[in-house]
Amino acid sequence: MKRVAILGGGPAGAFAAEQLASAGMNVVLIDEKLAWEKPCGGGLTYKAYQQYPFLIDNPAPKRFVTETVLAAPKAGEATLKLAEPLVIYSRYDLNRLLLERAGQAGAQIEKTRVTGMSRQGEGWRLDTAGGAMDADFCIVATGARNPLREVGTRLTAADTMAALGYYVEGEQARIDIQFLPKLEGYIWVFPRCGHLSVGICGKGEPAAELRKRLENFMDARGIRWQGSRFYSHLLPSLETRSWKSNRVAGEGWMAVGDAAGLVDPITGEGLYYAIRSGDLAAQSLLAEVGGLGERIAHYRRALRGDFTADLEFGSRLAKRVFLGSFLFGGVPARMVQFTRRSPRFAAIMRDLFAGRQPYLGLKKRLMENLNPSLCEIALSLGLSRIVPGARTS
Ligand SMILES: Cc1cc2nc3c(=O)[nH]c(=O)nc-3n(C[C@H](O)[C@H](O)[C@H](O)COP(=O)(O)OP(=O)(O)OC[C@H]3O[C@@H](n4cnc5c(N)ncnc54)[C@H](O)[C@@H]3O)c2cc1C
Repeated sequence: MKRVAILGGGPAGAFAAEQLASAGMNVVLIDEKLAWEKPCGGGLTYKAYQQYPFLIDNPAPKRFVTETVLAAPKAGEATLKLAEPLVIYSRYDLNRLLLERAGQAGAQIEKTRVTGMSRQGEGWRLDTAGGAMDADFCIVATGARNPLREVGTRLTAADTMAALGYYVEGEQARIDIQFLPKLEGYIWVFPRCGHLSVGICGKGEPAAELRKRLENFMDARGIRWQGSRFYSHLLPSLETRSWKSNRVAGEGWMAVGDAAGLVDPITGEGLYYAIRSGDLAAQSLLAEVGGLGERIAHYRRALRGDFTADLEFGSRLAKRVFLGSFLFGGVPARMVQFTRRSPRFAAIMRDLFAGRQPYLGLKKRLMENLNPSLCEIALSLGLSRIVPGARTS
């Protein structure tokens, strides 16, 4: 293979480019904007920087946050101390870091828009705003609004969430997560270097309604949205059936990151999966497994074995997490109450935040911890006398 073209230079494309160029491949990365402030919270979990330590070992500005406050209607708040901090970047800084690494590894970086792609023999002809280009293989990393309809995930409305918010002047040490009535989604307040990112994501609700919910929340908190910079974007959130038929690769191409729908359907975390899928695509292209067809099959298997089976399972849980009920109350409210009163349950939440607790296996761990958690809750409420054996559990 002579030349690999990477279409899109967000985290997924930039990391794939770095890996392939480091291995000596001829790589061209094409992005219409290069480093830019893509609408995003910019939060990276422990799972991401534990696997890719350069994400914290670098001089780019970033915040380390060790406290999250969870809140839900009728449940008040619970403070969760994070053993491993969440790292928060501005997307301009994160994209620039990743693009610089790709460039240093030897990738050619072009700032232009890809307007079309067509098969030319075994390879591709790419039409760009700056002229035509040839490539032998394409990695599609054009994000959730991928304009290249023949490649990447075919997102339906049911497979997406609207995500929008404001960059607000201000400073706070903690992250806020607010659950809302009848919403498959949540509000976040992320402290960044020099400002806050306050946003909302939600499935099945028009963006205008989400924006209203967010502005009401900000008004109630005394956070000024008037005059603050507004952002909005699409967040892939695949339904279970869509995971099963997800179009992640085809003849002469592999899709990575949001263009392949690789986002956690509950939390909306996509940065880790973008970088990881860029890595897996590069590893598969470099694998010594025979022809291109085998490499594409290798990529599909690698994704499944690494994380898409877990995200698919997560998609089954999503509605229950946000809209379900447990012990005569809403699940979000119970999550907040349990986190506040049960150290065992808080440990599970901490692992979920760190990315250490997969969705596969979550139910088993919750069930194993249910009775001890209930005992802890009873004790904290001063009900130890009516819970036999509570002190010893
Ligand atoms: C509001 C919001 C908040 C979020 N918060 C978080 C968070 O806190 N943590 C987290 O992990 N995830 C978060 N996400 C998800 C995260 O932003 C994405 O999963 C991540 O950006 C995916 O990376 P990517 O490289 O696949 O795509 P992108 O980052 O979208 O990059 C795609 C790139 O392709 C380029 N491009 C597109 N089309 C063309 C074209 N035709 N020609 C040339 N270039 C093109 C674009 O310019 C862009 O640079 C959030 C998403 C939203 C919308």
